[in-house]
Amino acid sequence: MRILLLGGTAEGRVLAEVLVDAGHEVVSSVAGRTAQARDASDGRVGGFGGAAGLADYLRTNQIATVVDATHPFAARMTHNAWQACAELGVPLVRLSRPGWVEHQYASEWTWVADHQAAAAAAAGAGRALLTVGRQPLPNYHGLPNVLARVAEWQGAPVPAGWQILEERGPFSLDHELELLRSAQIAVLVSKDSGGEHTAAKVDAAHELGVRVIMVARPEPPVGLAQVASTAEVLEWLGRCGVS
Ligand code: NAP
Repeated sequence: MRILLLGGTAEGRVLAEVLVDAGHEVVSSVAGRTAQARDASDGRVGGFGGAAGLADYLRTNQIATVVDATHPFAARMTHNAWQACAELGVPLVRLSRPGWVEHQYASEWTWVADHQAAAAAAAGAGRALLTVGRQPLPNYHGLPNVLARVAEWQGAPVPAGWQILEERGPFSLDHELELLRSAQIAVLVSKDSGGEHTAAKVDAAHELGVRVIMVARPEPPVGLAQVASTAEVLEWLGRCGVS
């Protein structure tokens, strides 16, 4: 039975390997916005054309199950998967790494609901390090003094007073301390991406007294089955009769 794995994350790549090793037939799908390491599964690249396009894809390719391992902030893809799977009665599970709400310093941070609120909270706070990815950056264009760190940059114009830093995690605590110090950062803006790859920045911010503004995760669709680990995905597939 064929599994569609919606990926674009480190967890997605690991899960693809595990599922293939377990003998599953897996199609891994990525949006294609950044260069991606290949895994052992079959791959496809690019959007499906909304929920309706995804439903067509599921039908045409006889997909029995969908595992959504997209990033916690890839809300549109998750919503489309929810809609398409509900329409066709295809089982869907979301693999989502735990967020940082339980982090030891979480109560020190300014939690905001979205990027507009984050930009408002950062206004007047001094030089900002933005670690929110590339796409949300226009929300912050009103900030005068910014260092924006992105995994890949595609040369879009940024306001005067902005600098782009192109680097991809994981980042060590020493690296983050050095960056916050040398760039004279007063405020760090982050998404609640969770996981370990990029967590050192909040520890470094705590150590240096840098203020943290944290954008909360979008709410998943009500009733969506969610798990936090590869092992739980395998258990869930077993319960769906995919083994
Ligand atoms: P999004 O807003 O939820 O998705 C926008 C559109 O991109 C979707 O409607 C879909 O197009 C297409 N798409 C997204 N994920 C796809 C996938 N795995 N396979 C095929 N099409 C996909 O997502 P996003 O925030 O732009 O993120 C895009 C991708 O980057 C995701 O796969 C995500 O896992 C990865 N990523 C995102 C972040 C982040 O911070 N948002 C960070 C790291 C990695 P159609 O409607 O045409 O189907």
